Amino acid sequence: IFISIEGPEGAGKTTVLNRIVQELKNRGKDVVQTREPGGIAIAEQIRSVILNKENTAMDARTEALLYAAARRQHLVEKVIPAIERGAIVLCDRFIDSSLAYQGHARGLGMNEVASINAFATDGMMPKLTLLFDVSPEVGLARIHQHDGREVNRLDLEGLSFHKKVREGYLMLAERDAGRIVVIDAEKEEEFVFQAALAKIKKVLL
Ligand code: C5P
Ligand code: MG
Repeated sequence: IFISIEGPEGAGKTTVLNRIVQELKNRGKDVVQTREPGGIAIAEQIRSVILNKENTAMDARTEALLYAAARRQHLVEKVIPAIERGAIVLCDRFIDSSLAYQGHARGLGMNEVASINAFATDGMMPKLTLLFDVSPEVGLARIHQHDGREVNRLDLEGLSFHKKVREGYLMLAERDAGRIVVIDAEKEEEFVFQAALAKIKKVLL
């Protein structure tokens, strides 16, 4: 089964995902935790090109295509084989990130970005997507509390960009309410963890 976790920076995706993976492993489940862009060597290399602070000349469509390329390789090399052997795949970000960030916030258009991604994924979609919803103000404040976290090219985007990201995500959640579950990630970590775990248990039945 394929599950994605979405939300802006500072929503707590990684922290909660680590706890969920631990919990499922303790119950003897075969769990694969991964992330996008990245998760395998080729896609991690693409990630470093996308996020490199020096690459200020990167065009928005180039960026969208690189995310899609990384996604393709990650699916073929890691996600699909894991799903085929019956594992639970938990992925930090997937296609909804591209639709919200490049499609909506960057203004490329959600439909345009969906179409290049349809080519990349060949229609593969998560069974469940947890959207960790948090206001940009709260999200950005949390990031600034992390010390030692390296600042990437996208972190230099302003508040209005992050507002559009949230708006894009919420539009997607409305459109695809059967797949995307919104979790209030402004609540404390324990609440978010329990809410996410409950939704995951439901699809594992
Ligand atoms: O969630 P993670 O830390 O892996 O994201 C890395 C960076 O890439 C973040 O700054 C995020 O906002 C950005 N990103 C993006 N478009 C995507 C996926 C991630 O701008 N489609
Ligand atoms: Mg993270």
